[in-house]
Amino acid sequence: MKNGLLKSQCNKDFNMNIIDAHTHLDYMTHKYQANVESVICCSVGEDDWKKLINIMNSDKNVFGAFGIHPWVIESVKDGWENRLYDLLNTNRDFMVGEIGLDKYKPNMEKQISVFTKQLEIAIQLKRNVFIHCVGAWDKIFHILKQYQRNKLPLMIAHGFNGSDEILHKLLNNYNVMFSFSEIDKDLDSSRIQEIDENKILVETDGKSNNNLSELIDKIANVKNNNDISNIIYNNTKQVLQNE
Ligand SMILES: [Zn+2]
Repeated sequence: MKNGLLKSQCNKDFNMNIIDAHTHLDYMTHKYQANVESVICCSVGEDDWKKLINIMNSDKNVFGAFGIHPWVIESVKDGWENRLYDLLNTNRDFMVGEIGLDKYKPNMEKQISVFTKQLEIAIQLKRNVFIHCVGAWDKIFHILKQYQRNKLPLMIAHGFNGSDEILHKLLNNYNVMFSFSEIDKDLDSSRIQEIDENKILVETDGKSNNNLSELIDKIANVKNNNDISNIIYNNTKQVLQNE
């Protein structure tokens, strides 16, 4: 009996289940990596919505986030807000994403307007939100301040590369999780150390060479916790709940 227990402990990670917390439609043509049970696919623009729904209908292991990415705001078509609202309103399990602000992309004013409208829809329909933010957290904080904090959805900061000050502001004031990718070459162990293990997710961001099992091993080492794969799995399940 004792030996049996020890043996199963040694093989703890044999049944590692992984949910890729952030990918895109282009990844859907690749095979899933070993141990990846399901994926959250973030749309980029409205053109993705229908394609993503078709994939979700044929594969129950694909979960979808719907929205307009800051890189494509120039091409939004009139009435997108209503179409997004209706789509989410009729599909209770759909999340919102990928939305955000990017200082290296044009037309910040329009980015802010498109982001704010989507955040409002997410608040109204109580949906978790996948956030892309490059060099514009000050602007996002300014927008978030306009809403009651307890009404804000769970925000998933993907590929987070903000300063320590921004990290602490997020951790101390908002319901936020962070999804890490192995592509972040300088995956900073002190940063992983600072973030509570209940707030950590893993993502490929659509890159097929991004090995999530290896990434989870790295995080397990930093956290000195062999159970981290289960914790990350359960965190991602929580994201899928839309509360
Ligand atoms: Zn992305």
